[in-house]
Amino acid sequence: MRLLMKFGGTSVGDGPRIRRVVEILEPFHAQGHELAVVTSALSGVTGQLIDMATESVRAKEKPAIEEFIENLRTRHRAALETVAPDYVDEVGRILDARLADLQAMLFGLHILRELSPRSKDYIISFGERLSAPVVRAALRQKGIPSLVLDGCEAGLVTTGQHGDAIVLPESDAKIRSRILPLLPDSVPVIMGYMGCTPQGVVTTLGRSGSDYSATVIGTAIGADEVWIWTDVDGIMTTDPRLIRDARVLPSVSYLEAMELSYFGARVMHPRSIEPAMRKNTPIRVKNSFNPSHPGTCIVRESKRDRRVVKALTHFTGVALVTITGAQMIGRPGVARMIFTALAEKEINIMMISQGSSEANISLLVDATQLDLAVAALSDMVKQGIVREVTSNPDVAAVAVVGAGMAGTPGISGRIFTAMGLAGINVIMISQGSSEVNVSFVVKESDGPKAVRVLHDEFRLSEEPDG
Ligand code: ADP
Ligand code: ASP
Ligand code: MG
Repeated sequence: MRLLMKFGGTSVGDGPRIRRVVEILEPFHAQGHELAVVTSALSGVTGQLIDMATESVRAKEKPAIEEFIENLRTRHRAALETVAPDYVDEVGRILDARLADLQAMLFGLHILRELSPRSKDYIISFGERLSAPVVRAALRQKGIPSLVLDGCEAGLVTTGQHGDAIVLPESDAKIRSRILPLLPDSVPVIMGYMGCTPQGVVTTLGRSGSDYSATVIGTAIGADEVWIWTDVDGIMTTDPRLIRDARVLPSVSYLEAMELSYFGARVMHPRSIEPAMRKNTPIRVKNSFNPSHPGTCIVRESKRDRRVVKALTHFTGVALVTITGAQMIGRPGVARMIFTALAEKEINIMMISQGSSEANISLLVDATQLDLAVAALSDMVKQGIVREVTSNPDVAAVAVVGAGMAGTPGISGRIFTAMGLAGINVIMISQGSSEVNVSFVVKESDGPKAVRVLHDEFRLSEEPDG
């Protein structure tokens, strides 16, 4: 078999955890399977890099760059000493050189007080630039030949949308030509989360982007399966941090996984499902802390349990924008103007709902883009095309997901009756055209309760019968 194994930040968080990674890979290698590895940064490092880059630009006084670099050195060295005592000098030098580059760049930011999206992407790719050599050393220590490739070397060619780049189709052939020749002899360790534009400028794929790297690379090399190793037993009925008795789903469809990730189930990156879906590559989500658990398999047709609702997500960090005005009634083109105004500012719309009277349209946007969205629409008020634009940042969204919902009457009724009985006011409702998902918006403080109520209503903690 040919397998692509991706290890998330917690799975490579420190020396003992990286050792587990090697223990997971060893038997597959010994059995003669071809393996390629995608690794994330050590847990927390990407966030720290983002914070330090921002701080370097903002700080009036000298920012604590040296201290930050020393912390990174200590953490990565400690991991290296634990997993690869024979390679401490060789790999230690690689880490030192990268840390010296990073330090120089952070000082540069501070002097210039300028952080462009392009330099930010290069800086935040350093989490993976530091973790991958350690993972490689750990494999070599166990006698498994290995080499490291950054995302660009691995063949990921992307758009230039820094911080949220999309992998271009031409990557497939490139990835194949770069990775396939390596597989018979070694286990390549590829830095996740990054790629580069056709001009060679480094980009990142959005937070949690290593999942996306993994499915793109796995699919391109014709892997039989892509395994996403994380810190929970699989995709669950909802975030186990929110609902303690959330249950692992043995299988979900690509469509269900896509809706879940799009609506905030952090376990997979929102763009990571599509590449696998295109070529029917199965994705397995497994726990590196509990490898014997079968995990969740993501495939085209999930075994339909008789249950129609499978999982719930809850996400915050969103805001509601409502555009109102009788002027909109029966007037073609208003919706187009709204969406064009928002698209020009690159504002991502997560949910849309229009009242049947056409007197208002509500949109859910990322909270960080709220001011931009309201400003973009204010011209339409000035021109008298709409009466007013209001906003509400105090909201959360809940999505109810399950392929069985398509064509099953009464689901929405159950959802909103349950909300009513729990005294939760539903501010906005949207049903995706795929009918795999019904999502709605509530007051932010009602979000967790809404999930609890629905988890009980659809008895998601219980094994499905039959
Ligand atoms: P990694 O570093 O391995 O990529 P992440 O933290 O990105 O891990 O994703 C795993 C986390 O996703 C879990 O610890 C869990 O808290 C969260 N999560 C949110 N929704 C779900 C869900 N439906 N099923 C499983 N995990 C979920
Ligand atoms: N290290 C990156 C992040 O923390 C990418 C990833 O972990 O998938 O977002
Ligand atoms: Mg992740």
